[in-house]
Amino acid sequence: MPDGPAVSFERALLDGIAPDGGLYHPTAEPDLRALIRSLGTELAFVDVAAAMIEGLFPEYHDAASARQLATAAFPFAPELRRLGSDHYLLELFHGPSAAFKDFGAMFLAAAMERAIGAGGRRAVVLTATSGDTGGAVGNAFLGRAGIDVVILYPDGRISPLQEKQLTTLGGNVHAVRVAGAFDDCQRLVKGAFADGELTAQVPLTSANSINIGRLIPQSFYYVWAATQLRERLEEDPLFSVPSGNFGNLTAGVLAWRWGMPCGGFLAATNENDVVPAYLATGRYAPRPSRETLATAMDVGAPSNLERLERIFDSGTLVGSGMLHGHVTSDARIREVMRAVRRDSDLFVCPHTACGIDATWDYLGEEPGDGAPVITLATAHAAKFVEVSRDVLGEAPALPPQLVKLLDREGTSTPMDATADALRHYLLERFV
Ligand SMILES: *Cc1c(COP(=O)(O)O)cnc(C)c1O
Repeated sequence: MPDGPAVSFERALLDGIAPDGGLYHPTAEPDLRALIRSLGTELAFVDVAAAMIEGLFPEYHDAASARQLATAAFPFAPELRRLGSDHYLLELFHGPSAAFKDFGAMFLAAAMERAIGAGGRRAVVLTATSGDTGGAVGNAFLGRAGIDVVILYPDGRISPLQEKQLTTLGGNVHAVRVAGAFDDCQRLVKGAFADGELTAQVPLTSANSINIGRLIPQSFYYVWAATQLRERLEEDPLFSVPSGNFGNLTAGVLAWRWGMPCGGFLAATNENDVVPAYLATGRYAPRPSRETLATAMDVGAPSNLERLERIFDSGTLVGSGMLHGHVTSDARIREVMRAVRRDSDLFVCPHTACGIDATWDYLGEEPGDGAPVITLATAHAAKFVEVSRDVLGEAPALPPQLVKLLDREGTSTPMDATADALRHYLLERFV
């Protein structure tokens, strides 16, 4: 792929997708080895985030403004829990929407509000969700001055609670239910950004996991977890990442490239196995997504693969040995959820179950066979009560930030899965 023009971080943040339809990538690769080594193992997440912001964007942030942004973006933090002798769970679901996407969304919203406020501009954030992005993005942007948010979601294909999360916010957050699959929603969003006539009239910006401003903050929790465990582990850990669009995994790979010690990544998918198949065969064959129990990972054409390829220099990703593909069937998701409930007295969501399955396969029967693994727990199990009840006959209590949604009535606008319908909607509302 030819290189597009280099733009500022602020521009990449607000544009979301480059004018040629491609993705933005960091230009120079920062070397943060010394910085990451210097982080104390007891540091709070927000301290690690502040240090990383300053290290990554020295031209935008000094120590004070980095801390200000980190504090504004992260009023919540991840937690680490030991699951087995070589196995840790990195819980990323303690934010406002109870899923890891809160990290990216909150950082992007806080950074974008700064950028917009400084220039007196407006922005319309256009995003597609397969479930969890919508709630995270909606919550993060709710009430921010000068910004409207339009969230497209596949009608009937997200959980009732996820739908509540994005349709009950109101105000500057607009929910649109599309007659189609997540891939249709994503295609519409990409199409809108590539439509020059439309973007000339509506100041569109993206908050999908393709936005570099959402990806970068996700690297912070990898660094925080590796730092926390640095003195406890004898080998550099691997990370097992439940993946759909591969934004989360890309963020981990970025952290590694910048200098975080790491033994590799388990690319854990559900039966939408395009990337594991690609890693195994070297042939990339995107196809329509299939519905599984881990719905937020039902992606047939993961948009961050381009970025992953790019990070590895073309053609070296497959042979790098850093990524190990793993596929988990729905039947196996059920087994893992039951086993974790039985052995560790924990509820895990179906996505996290895919990550745990990959880790168990990697670690094998005997302790000490492989390097330690940190599995990312991507959402709170209570967000998927229906699955939990069905598989386990019981469900965990909903975290308080979600309980309050239950009695609220949501509103959303129906839309056909066509570029025309979306263009019409945007022009009518935002011009
Ligand atoms: C979005 C999501 C994923 C997949 O993350 P990607 O960055 O798209 O790979 C996994 N689990 C949950 C709960 C999610 O919401």
